[in-house]
Amino acid sequence: MPDRRHFLASGLALAAGHSLAQLAPRTVGRVVIVGGGWGGLAAAARLRRAAPDLDVTLVEREPLFRSLPLSNAWLVGRAPEVIAPAEHAAIAARSGYRPLRADATAVDRAQRRVHTTQGALDYDWLVLAAGIRYDYAPWLGDDARAIEAVRRQYPAAYVSGELDALKRKLTDFKGGELLMTVPPGPARCPPAPYERAVMIAWWLKTRRIPGRLTLVDAGGGMQRFNRVFAERYKDQIQHITHATVKAIDPYAKSLHTEFDEFRFDDAIIIPPQAAADIVRQAGLLETDTAGRPGNWAAFDPLRLHAPGDERVFLVGDLLGRASPLFGAYPKSAHMAARLGRIAADGILARANGVSPAPTLPESVCFVHTDVEPAEALRIEASYRQRGDGLIMQTVRQREEPQPRGEDADWARGLFADIAKHD
Ligand SMILES: Cc1cc2nc3c(=O)[nH]c(=O)nc-3n(C[C@H](O)[C@H](O)[C@H](O)COP(=O)(O)OP(=O)(O)OC[C@H]3O[C@@H](n4cnc5c(N)ncnc54)[C@H](O)[C@@H]3O)c2cc1C
Repeated sequence: MPDRRHFLASGLALAAGHSLAQLAPRTVGRVVIVGGGWGGLAAAARLRRAAPDLDVTLVEREPLFRSLPLSNAWLVGRAPEVIAPAEHAAIAARSGYRPLRADATAVDRAQRRVHTTQGALDYDWLVLAAGIRYDYAPWLGDDARAIEAVRRQYPAAYVSGELDALKRKLTDFKGGELLMTVPPGPARCPPAPYERAVMIAWWLKTRRIPGRLTLVDAGGGMQRFNRVFAERYKDQIQHITHATVKAIDPYAKSLHTEFDEFRFDDAIIIPPQAAADIVRQAGLLETDTAGRPGNWAAFDPLRLHAPGDERVFLVGDLLGRASPLFGAYPKSAHMAARLGRIAADGILARANGVSPAPTLPESVCFVHTDVEPAEALRIEASYRQRGDGLIMQTVRQREEPQPRGEDADWARGLFADIAKHD
């Protein structure tokens, strides 16, 4: 019987129309991966398993991998961290690729070279899996001091390095007005702010903390959460929908929308988002019809390489539009890992002189809609190519009235698979 990992790996290879042996490259090549999140780790693990001869380096600025999925329950002390923080160096040693703790600062695609704070790396294939950056400009303009103040004092914890700061903030909150923004899309894991709101409301209610959470929401919310907020947490949550943030004053602790001013004692400012900086530095942002750069990465949706550059693959939350029929893929960890494996298979095929078979991903995401008793939503997205070549998306949402830790099993299973961590 093949073990689970072998089964998964061969299943993926067969889905792409090749056996593992066929995919193993005949020539040695250098692969550089920028970003050691869900997408980058999945690409590295897949390359290591299927092509031990390839020289793989993963560039990551953080020393530790920490999971954003399932972080919301941990933030309010409801659950231990579902995946214990793991050192990137240890993951790399287990998997057998080279880790480089550094910031990738630029990509010279003509020279096929990545510049980092620890020196330059030449590549034959590059995977950009660097996630998102915060884009405070629509709310704070180019006021660098205010941006720094908001980021430091009111961390979003939408990147893993800020999780401890946000947890400290919540632990120290003794009451009053707590404000949280829900940014306009596209954004990382759109249900995450609502899940976080439910966790905070439950915690205010059960700890009898005399506080209220005001959600200033660019959109209209999600039906299931809107009901839970109104029916179960009306004393803890004030949900302001369709609110466009016009300005934030981090010193006076106030936020202005088109119609209102909100004063707060403390805040979690989740800002608008864009692809990580390295995408712009590599010249790979989408452009509009007038040629102006947008916020997200342009890519070939069937093979994940950069437009006009089959040496560079793009993976995960940084991606822009996959199809005019639905826009971008959901920015989820499951999706990032799936795309990481597809990109790795693309490199394996090219290293072998073969054109990669088009492969479409899928995504599964669990979100908690209440705490006691626990309730969850399972959101699945699947894709297929239509006759005219465009990618179609089907989304299924299922309520799980009695979740039994499926989300934790999912996260641990995926992490074990991409980080060789049992
Ligand atoms: C609160 C919250 C809850 C979530 N819950 C879920 C959930 O339940 N299920 C789910 O599927 N998804 C969930 N997500 C979404 C999930 O976290 C993301 O979709 C996933 O992390 C995307 O993976 P990625 O590899 O694209 O980016 P990331 O995981 O962010 O990885 C990018 C990595 O690149 C590094 N990096 C960036 N730039 C550079 C550079 N220049 N040089 C070196 N390193 C660099 C970063 O440090 C980072 O480690 C949640 C997100 C949040 C914020």
